[in-house]
Amino acid sequence: MPVLPNFQLNREDQALVGAVLAGQRRALAKTITLIESTRSDHRQRAGTLLHALLPNSGNSIRLGISGTPGVGKSTFIEALGLHLIEQGHRVAVLAVDPSSSCSGGSILGDKTRMELLSARDEAFIRPSPSSGSLGGVAASTREAMLVCEAAGFDVIIVETVGVGQSETAVAGMTDAFCLLQQPNAGDDLQAMKKGIVELADIFVVNKADLDPVAADLTAGQITGALTLLRPSAARWQPPVLKVSAALGEGIGNFWQQLGLFRQTVGETGELAAKRRHQSLSWMWALIESGLQERFRENPGVRAAMPDLSAAVENGSVSPTLAAHRLLELMGDTTGI
Ligand code: GDP
Repeated sequence: MPVLPNFQLNREDQALVGAVLAGQRRALAKTITLIESTRSDHRQRAGTLLHALLPNSGNSIRLGISGTPGVGKSTFIEALGLHLIEQGHRVAVLAVDPSSSCSGGSILGDKTRMELLSARDEAFIRPSPSSGSLGGVAASTREAMLVCEAAGFDVIIVETVGVGQSETAVAGMTDAFCLLQQPNAGDDLQAMKKGIVELADIFVVNKADLDPVAADLTAGQITGALTLLRPSAARWQPPVLKVSAALGEGIGNFWQQLGLFRQTVGETGELAAKRRHQSLSWMWALIESGLQERFRENPGVRAAMPDLSAAVENGSVSPTLAAHRLLELMGDTTGI
């Protein structure tokens, strides 16, 4: 039996692939919509489309950006995006908002964001739905990134608000991860989980125009804290940059530092290794979420779950025994 099924594109999807490769935005948006869909026929099409587009993906600079609401992410991304367009780049922004699945509201989507950037032909901005699993980052975000690359976007920015596990997921799909901070964020920094700080390859203290002294102080605090941490890469000390996204100051320097980072981790082979590792972890993350979904939907599991859960709760059956029984039921294709 062949390892992979035979991927045959129907005529409509052949045309869609052609249009994506030609950089047509409507085709790009349509493909991402298919990828985000939960309908099984759409998923199947999306899988085939992705397979066809995959050879044309991978040629971008993938940048993850995170920070608490209000720190200036959209202002920063807009300034950076416009700067990059001036230099001839094409920029895609995928905004991941883990809050939308919990609260029903959306921190990223509520306001008009990046108006100047979204008006540009060289930019593509797309909020990603956060459908729960994989640390709040939509399972589709990574695929959307690949499609944007196939459509010729050579800088992909994946943005997330700094809550939950989303930073880990975003850092796990990008080449470089950048954390935005505000001046006087001393308390903030203390509260930042060590694991998240360790993910950052570049720190930005934004709004430096508001209070340059406080910005210096905050940058110093972060630099000090970093000496106690493991660096994100072997030959790289994460820089702490002062920026004013609103005034566009420090944006060019940020881009230079990012270039330096990519050059450094390119030379050591860490970038290639990181991407290989990311692809494999992504496969495992999808396997795990797929298994969970199958488990929950299995008729035998569903039938036995209420009684077994109650028995575990009242102590008459051990959690271990119940878990084993339920897993056995999932393996039993005849159901109950
Ligand atoms: P986000 O929630 O992280 O996307 O933050 P926004 O980009 O929406 O910015 C929040 C607020 O901070 C807005 O009112 C921005 O105009 C303001 N802001 C963002 N960057 C700067 C900056 O560099 N300097 C100043 N003074 N204000 C800024």
